Amino acid sequence: MRLHDEEVERFRALLEYNILDTGPERSFDELARLAAYVSKTPIAFITFVDENREWFKSVIGIDSGIREVPRDKSFGAYVINHSEDVLAVSTPLDDERTRQNPFLQSYPGISFIAGLPLVERGGHRIGSLCVAGFQPKDLSYEQVAMLQTVAGNVILQLEQRRGVPDSAESVPALRTSADKALPERGIPNSDEPNVIHALTGEGTGIGGELFRGTGTGTEEENSSAIRKDIQDLIGRLEKQNRKLTLLCEMDELLQASHDEEEVYTIVTNYSNKLFPGESGALFIFNDMLNILDCVSKWGDNLKSESEFLPDKCWALRLGRMHYVNSSPSELYCQHLTGTSNNDYFCVPMLARGKTLGLIYLQSCVQSAGEADIERELVYTGHIVSTMAKLAALALGNIKHHEALQNYAIYDSLTGLFNRRYMEETLKREVSRVARNKEPLGLIMIDIDHFKQYNDAYGHAAGDMLLRSIGEFFKDGIRREDIACRYGGEEFVLILPGSSLENTCRRAEQLHEDIKRVRVRHRGNFMNSVEVSMGVVVFSEHGSSAELLLESADKALYKAKALGRNRIVVA
Ligand code: GH3
Ligand code: MG
Ligand code: MG
Repeated sequence: MRLHDEEVERFRALLEYNILDTGPERSFDELARLAAYVSKTPIAFITFVDENREWFKSVIGIDSGIREVPRDKSFGAYVINHSEDVLAVSTPLDDERTRQNPFLQSYPGISFIAGLPLVERGGHRIGSLCVAGFQPKDLSYEQVAMLQTVAGNVILQLEQRRGVPDSAESVPALRTSADKALPERGIPNSDEPNVIHALTGEGTGIGGELFRGTGTGTEEENSSAIRKDIQDLIGRLEKQNRKLTLLCEMDELLQASHDEEEVYTIVTNYSNKLFPGESGALFIFNDMLNILDCVSKWGDNLKSESEFLPDKCWALRLGRMHYVNSSPSELYCQHLTGTSNNDYFCVPMLARGKTLGLIYLQSCVQSAGEADIERELVYTGHIVSTMAKLAALALGNIKHHEALQNYAIYDSLTGLFNRRYMEETLKREVSRVARNKEPLGLIMIDIDHFKQYNDAYGHAAGDMLLRSIGEFFKDGIRREDIACRYGGEEFVLILPGSSLENTCRRAEQLHEDIKRVRVRHRGNFMNSVEVSMGVVVFSEHGSSAELLLESADKALYKAKALGRNRIVVA
């Protein structure tokens, strides 16, 4: 398709929504307000871009009085042509793309603007959801994910009112009857002129079926049907907005959570709030065992195994949401324990390119008509996948943070503390025992002839032995002791409060026991190793951490020089 044809199609798609030049509507304003809330900006707006202009459906936070800007000066036009999900501009009035924009010019203090395209079902980018503020800022991944959810809801909103003809002739009569009827029956006076417009038409598609006031019955019957439709619509919008608010709340909590257990609790609590009465479960991928493990479940009718291989789930195989409605032809996941009457969603939790887990939710969609069911399904799918996205981001961040922390503290091969951490800790322990007038023992250990061991069995086998020795030290020390890998095949044990006599006794015990550490490699047990040790105590052999290590090193060197496989006290 040529560019021009594409633009014609896009424009046609936009016109089908009958949204241009309509009045303000509470539902769109609420979505804009939600966008502002999510991105923590004072300003948000929803716009649609036609062939000549960007037209503002909803503006929250400022009142410039400007409802449209020429397309060649519009931000929305950039957003819909931008290939990425979100387009952000800092200092818009210095930026080539936004400097000429009369809307932004009317508020010269704006120093941040970001927009996401509004993509309708046919894939056309018909408008934008924008947020702006007076402080420079970066949107987080979570905020962009939430804004995408809000943008998706703008489209849902459009679809709900779509296809309703704006018939000038029928407007006055029905509008009058609806206007009269609404306040009397206690239905809130709608500030949604288009909803009232919508009453005038027969409608097609999802939105059309919403309004049954077709003029075929008496005026009283029609207006009663209309009232019910409006009530339904308002009820549904309120329900949707409540869910979006819950998602925002959940996101805030997830971002503040420190460990995985907290994430599990938050997801469980909010699943209960978002899908009350429904059963579901949160599974976490255990990459050591290659299984999905149920870490939390809710509801009392869970129809899934609580542990299963990833291959048993279609969503995990496909890397995207899998929805099944209870019909025999559907592809049920193999981890289900019951398929009768089981409509369900499986949504993978993906972050940083890795599968972290899965949210499984038995469907909670119960509505009267088919159109209602379809709309609810789309909406529920949207909510579950946003939940999964937010939970995965939070888990990914926690894991990443833990990995960084571990990297800073632990030696990755043996799991013992690393040298840098030991040196810091030794300084701290030395000043603590000095204050308390206590001793501190330190043992420096080096494996004898380890090079030969590597040469004989291979480097991988050498690694296995180092790992086993790491375990041996972890098991052989008290809780207050510190074991670290000092270098390649060298280790340091710090024994706070331990006298010289006690430290020597411990060294002798370890020296003996270490000979029993044997490693199996390729089906055979390899030879055990012997070690040399240098023993020192604070403050006899050094008045600081550095001097203690120096003395221990000298004692170890002496042990090697004297023939290895022995302990030397400095
Ligand atoms: P000595 O009795 O004098 O200590 O002899 P040695 O062979 O143990 O000492 P040397 O310093 O000559 O060699 C240390 C060996 O330790 C050489 C190196 O290949 C091995 N090594 C160091 N780090 C690692 C590691 O992470 N994995 C394995 N497999 N080997 C390592
Ligand atoms: Mg050695
Ligand atoms: Mg060495």
